[in-house]
Parts: sequence; C-alpha cells; structure tokens
Amino acid sequence: LAGGLIIGLAACDAPAESGAGGGGGEAAEIESVGISMPTRELERWINDGEQLKANLDDAGYTTDLQYAENDTDTQISQIQNQIASGADVLVIAAIDGSVLAPVLQDAADEGITVIAYDRLINGTENVDYYATFDNYLVGQLQGQYIVDQLDLDNEEGPFNLEPFAGSPDDNNAKFFFSGAWDVLKPYIDEGKLVVKSGKEPASNDDWASIGIQGWESAGAQDEMENRLATFYTDDQVDVVLSPNDSLAQGIAEALASSGYTPGTDWPLLTGQDADKASVINLLADKQSMTVWKDTRKLGEQVFSMIEALKAGDDPEVNDEETYDNGEKVVPSYLLTPEVVVKDDVQSKLIDSGFLTAGDVGL
Ligand code: BGC
Repeated sequence: LAGGLIIGLAACDAPAESGAGGGGGEAAEIESVGISMPTRELERWINDGEQLKANLDDAGYTTDLQYAENDTDTQISQIQNQIASGADVLVIAAIDGSVLAPVLQDAADEGITVIAYDRLINGTENVDYYATFDNYLVGQLQGQYIVDQLDLDNEEGPFNLEPFAGSPDDNNAKFFFSGAWDVLKPYIDEGKLVVKSGKEPASNDDWASIGIQGWESAGAQDEMENRLATFYTDDQVDVVLSPNDSLAQGIAEALASSGYTPGTDWPLLTGQDADKASVINLLADKQSMTVWKDTRKLGEQVFSMIEALKAGDDPEVNDEETYDNGEKVVPSYLLTPEVVVKDDVQSKLIDSGFLTAGDVGL
C-alpha cells in the first residue's frame, strides 16, 4: 500500500501524454507494476506471472499480480483496481484482446505505460509495447514438423490431417494458425494431405471457424471425439495439427478412448508450451512435439523493458511492423520459440531448469 501511495504521487507528476514510454533520457518514477494474467488454469500463466513478479520484487518494485480465471469482466475490474491503486506500469496478458480499450483509456489518462504480454491488445492507441514469442513462427514450426515427419516433399500420401485452432478471442491464435497453414496448405492443394472432416478453413482469415473457445482441453477432446466418430469409423487419422498443449492433451484423450495406441497407430500430434502434462505425453509417445517458449525469457524481457522505462530509455524492440492492433503498429520484442521432441526433454527442458526430472516422472 505504501508503494501504491508513492506511485499515486508519481503518477500525478508523470507527463500527461499517454504511456510515457521513456526515451527522453530522464529517469521516470516507476515503482509499482500491475500484472494481469488470464488464468491459473494453465500452467504457463502461473509460471509467467510468478516469474515476472519475482524479478520485479527482487529489484524493489511494488507488484500486484492478478489472475482473472479466463473471465473478461474480472480482468477489466482487476485492471481498474490496479489503476486506482497507483500502478505506473501495467503488464497485461489479455483474455480477450478486443475489449480492453476503455480500461486502457483510463490507464492512459493516468499516464500509465501499458505493456501487452504474450498476447496483443487490439483496438486502442494505449498499448505502448508488446513482448511475446514470434507467434507466426510457432505455427510455422508446427507445420514444418509435420512436413518433415511425413516427408511430404517425397511421399505422395495421402495422409489424413485434422487441424485445430486456438481461442477465437486470442489474437495469437490467428498467427499460430496462419504460420502452420501457410506451410501445410500447398500439400493439401496437392492432395498429399486430406482433411476428411472438412474442418478446413476456407482461408487463413477463417481460422476461428475451427477455434476452440478458451483453449479448453475438454472442448478439443469433444471436437476430436466427434470427428473420429463421424469421419474415421473405417479409416485412421495420421496427423493432428494442435496449436498448443492444452488442446493436444484433450485430443490425446480422444485418441486414446477411440483405441489409438502410442507407438503404433497414434497420429502425429503437435503442441506448444512444454506443459508438464504434455511433456509426459511426449515421453509416452502420445504427443510428437511441443513448441517450447521459455517463459523465463519473456519475463526477463518485460523486466528489462520496465527497467529501461525507469531509466528514461526506450525499451528495446525488434519488430515494428507485424503487430498492427487496428489503431497502431505496436513496437514489439519477439523472442524465438523452439521445437522440443521426446529426445530433447532432458537436454532442453530439464538441463535448463525449465522443468525438473521429477515434474515429468523421470
Ligand atoms: C499463448 C499460448 C497458450 C495459449 C493458451 C496463447 O496466447 O501464446 O502459449 O498456449 O494462449 O493459454
């Protein structure tokens, strides 16, 4: 609370222009940071939030970390509270990237700098920076993995592919899908990949038609069970494009309950995040790959953005053209994701300390 008070004053001193943004070379009074995360339901957001909070706490900032349990109204009211209690910077991983404009106007009126975390916030001038992994590359890595594993440049197939996409309200989901689809579509056009269910978006822009609301494992499981029961009674699915691990876990449940066996007829199945449950599935041959985003690096990146703002410098960005939110192109820092397969679990995930051997039963 004391921190909040100091900040309250600092906020009044802050220049009136929205999202101060640094750059003037003059140190800014940044003491208090509000962190708004979507949900505790998914492991990655717990890690993300705690990681960033620890970095900031260690450096002496006052922090307020909130989880909104995937409820947009809750997230908005948590952000309102953070504004009211004098945050200088807000770090927000939006549940729905299209509904935060009004609350971010309130933040701008208080001179608060807003950093979009992992997911872009759309339809507002009042988002100053964006830090994320290269979302299009995540999808490309998934698509290219499928092409390489099936050796589609040499094999004729046809292979049965079932594609999934992420939550329609998450701006990242369209990038994941486009990245993967731009790689896979030529092989569909050639007839080497076939989508028997017909759940194939007419174009990249139509990806939400196969989106799983809220990134729910249960939603993906239901959808996969339906597709298997309807289109695969006397045929088998060879590959499933899943944009992330929570969906892949539901899809794996559906495959298991339809009688697919790991190591024999189990299809290729992609993912993202290196969630513990999915790494366990990698080790058990129930998921083929995951795109690992070392969330510690994202936390460090955002931390250094805040440190730069405090020092009066411009935070480092490396992309100023991709993330147009409808009102502006948001200066972004994109980190590089990487593919992890079963054989990399020890060397990439455990040796780096991202997971412990015990986390995944090794
Ligand atoms: C994140 C993914 C995550 C998904 C579901 C996306 O915005 O980038 O890492 O799997 O949300 O939480």
